[in-house]
Amino acid sequence: MPGIDRQPLRVVVLGAGFGGLELTTRLSDELGDGVDVVLVDRTEDFVFGFSKLDVMFGRLEPEQVRHRYEDIAAPGVRFVNAEVLAIDPVARRVETTSGAFEADVLVLALGSDLDPTATPGLAEDGVDFYSEAGAFAARDVLERFEGGRVVIGVMSTPYKCPPAPSETALLVHEHLTRRGQRERSSITLVLPLPSPVPPSPATSAALTEAFDQRGIDLRAHRAVQRLDPERHVAVLDDGSELPYDLFLGVPVHRVPEVVERSGMATDGWVAVDRGTLATRWPGVYAVGDVTSAGTPKAGVFAEGQASVVAEAILAQVRGQGGGPAYDGHGVCYVEFGDQEVAVVDVTFPDGAAPSGFLEGPSVELAAVKGEFGTSRIRRWFGQDWAPLS
Ligand SMILES: Cc1cc2nc3c(=O)[nH]c(=O)nc-3n(C[C@H](O)[C@H](O)[C@H](O)COP(=O)(O)OP(=O)(O)OC[C@H]3O[C@@H](n4cnc5c(N)ncnc54)[C@H](O)[C@@H]3O)c2cc1C
Repeated sequence: MPGIDRQPLRVVVLGAGFGGLELTTRLSDELGDGVDVVLVDRTEDFVFGFSKLDVMFGRLEPEQVRHRYEDIAAPGVRFVNAEVLAIDPVARRVETTSGAFEADVLVLALGSDLDPTATPGLAEDGVDFYSEAGAFAARDVLERFEGGRVVIGVMSTPYKCPPAPSETALLVHEHLTRRGQRERSSITLVLPLPSPVPPSPATSAALTEAFDQRGIDLRAHRAVQRLDPERHVAVLDDGSELPYDLFLGVPVHRVPEVVERSGMATDGWVAVDRGTLATRWPGVYAVGDVTSAGTPKAGVFAEGQASVVAEAILAQVRGQGGGPAYDGHGVCYVEFGDQEVAVVDVTFPDGAAPSGFLEGPSVELAAVKGEFGTSRIRRWFGQDWAPLS
């Protein structure tokens, strides 16, 4: 890799989400001040995707789920709070609102952007519960809601954390039941996928059974095309209409604009070698939601990919051969409401069908999910944190 002999190696990581945090932590743990890592993010704090639902359903306050980047105290790592404005993958140079950075190794971990404006009527009459601001605002909307027709709708694929809209439907059921509003309400879930979690039929079956038990109407294989704000009606891709009093939407996902402008998004996302996460530009890697690596857009997969890139960088610094190839393995936690959580263990092998198995749901597994969050915050931020007390 060009420039690899430089001491210390200059690694620039764009995006401090699951992928960026895991990568920088691994490099710092192994190399300490022997590496010069710049971690760039436009936000001041990290929030888990699942914490958005905790705030939305009133289980935690926003300040309880924010993890401030300024608390990162990892040797060799410098956090820069800035917007990435331009990326030159050939020169491995980036421009940000805090100046330019040149890298020996450049890693894109910029996630995906949400585009509510891509769906007519969504920004006007729907609630985007996928963004941090949207989910936190949805808390007040749910608080004020007095019951009625709730539609949870996904606009298109791919979208982050495929089980999350199903979890949301179950948590809406729990919320309305607790408030005595369930009997005068209906809940409809519109998913563009053929089943709630296609790679794990057992998870799909468990979720479908939970929907049946709770009277939640699942419209699978359907996407929401537009909302009609005057009639409060969602129009699906088969032309059918769903009237709503509350529409909770998952907006269209796109590669971040700065990546689009850089010319690195060749198939809508950043193409990578599936085993190494290397892009076609020497010394440039991409991990997580920003890629078309062939795994779902979820934090666990971003984390696993970051770990492979960390091993590759460590191997090169130490003058060893390449590290392990990415195996596509991840463990997801699915909330069923009533404090029950299921664990989905799934693997997406390169070029073969995914396989997975399901454990639960049970109340006991909620603690396993809690430990997942606790362990990440301990490792990434060096802090104690419990998602739910
Ligand atoms: C409701 C919900 C629940 C979820 N639950 C789970 C779950 O239980 N388990 C799970 O594994 N995943 C879950 N996810 C998905 C998970 O949050 C994402 O898939 C994961 O965060 C992707 O990691 P990443 O590192 O690729 O990108 P991200 O974590 O999205 O990080 C990208 C970072 O890049 C920064 N950025 C973007 N553009 C710029 C720019 N131009 N300049 C500077 N910074 C920029 C962003 O601020 C962000 O911090 C959930 C998502 C949602 C919405």
